[in-house]
Amino acid sequence: MAVPPEEGQFLSIMLKLMNAKKTIEIGVFTGYSLLLTAMALPKDGKITAIDIDKSAFEIGLPFIKKAGVEDKINFIESPALPVLDKLVQEVGEDELYDFAFIDADKVSYGEYHERLLKLVKVGGVIAYDNTIWFGTVAVPEDASLPMFAKEGRTALIALNKFLAADPRVEISQVPIGDGLTICRRLY
Ligand code: SAH
Ligand code: CA
Repeated sequence: MAVPPEEGQFLSIMLKLMNAKKTIEIGVFTGYSLLLTAMALPKDGKITAIDIDKSAFEIGLPFIKKAGVEDKINFIESPALPVLDKLVQEVGEDELYDFAFIDADKVSYGEYHERLLKLVKVGGVIAYDNTIWFGTVAVPEDASLPMFAKEGRTALIALNKFLAADPRVEISQVPIGDGLTICRRLY
């Protein structure tokens, strides 16, 4: 489920070009994207990482420790939505995030988007993974697809349409990996 290495390199260079210091990740799994983010941030960088299940993260944690970047990570085991709601309540104007990587349950991306627009600073980036969904967002409505692909397809088509028309962000949908939509917050 991890992003492929070429997308990892892309995310890493983007974080460095942006001088990102404070980021949020929703959907950690074994922590590959988390590790590359932690390695791309400066020494005093901070990542809030949220996953509903800690067990896969624990498999990757020794590698994060070996890289010496675990101090940058605050891992929270929880469904993402209540954590985001809490962060929105607590965050100060001068504590907003530079970057967010969203790679969890696809049906909730729309709900995450509203919270993230309050958490990520103007000029910052919210990046959504898997927005091409194995190419299924471009197949005809009546194509035969496995159930999991169908649900994701419906959610991601709705998200793609929504983001394309959302005046609060400028977007670029990059056909790397399974599709990465980069949203830059405008206001
Ligand atoms: N970003 C990782 C892969 C994440 S896979 C990488 O590229 O290396 C998706 C993860 O989202 C899974 O670990 C799953 O447990 C998590 N997830 C699914 N639903 C979630 C939810 N509602 N809240 C938080 N995490 C969730
Ligand atoms: Ca993904």
